Amino acid sequence: MSRVDSAPSSSTAKTTAVSSLPVQKLKNKTLHYQASWKETFPWILEIPEVGVLCRIWKTTTDQELLNVADSRAENAFVSHGFCNWKKALISFKKHENSATHTFSIAQLEHQSASQSIGTQLYTKLCSDRLKAFGVLMNIISSVRYLARQGLALRGHESDVGSA
Ligand SMILES: [Zn+2]
Repeated sequence: MSRVDSAPSSSTAKTTAVSSLPVQKLKNKTLHYQASWKETFPWILEIPEVGVLCRIWKTTTDQELLNVADSRAENAFVSHGFCNWKKALISFKKHENSATHTFSIAQLEHQSASQSIGTQLYTKLCSDRLKAFGVLMNIISSVRYLARQGLALRGHESDVGSA
């Protein structure tokens, strides 16, 4: 009994993009983005060289659910990227409670709900159409059959509708 050696998992350890986020230089120290922040704030979207954006906001705007004008106040998290690590936790919390953020979540929830209803309706519509098409094909073949019969019969009766 021979066994083929399974190759050792060659995948290298996942490298997080954390190091590529900008650092914040203060007078006497340099602050870095903390990967652990993401555990508390799961909406954090790390953008290399830029900073942190709000993933929820990004998703809603990518799907054009949110008007850009609605996001005026939260521009750090929604446009140019947040990288003021000194105030990170306070700002994250503030953003999480902001109207923009909660509105984004509401929009996403609304969208996913309406999407599933839409899919259901579409599936129903398709099956209805298929059924209707099947009925139509039956009618057509019946009409064809009757027409053929009728034509054959009509050869004998030429007095139809004479007034
Ligand atoms: Zn947000």
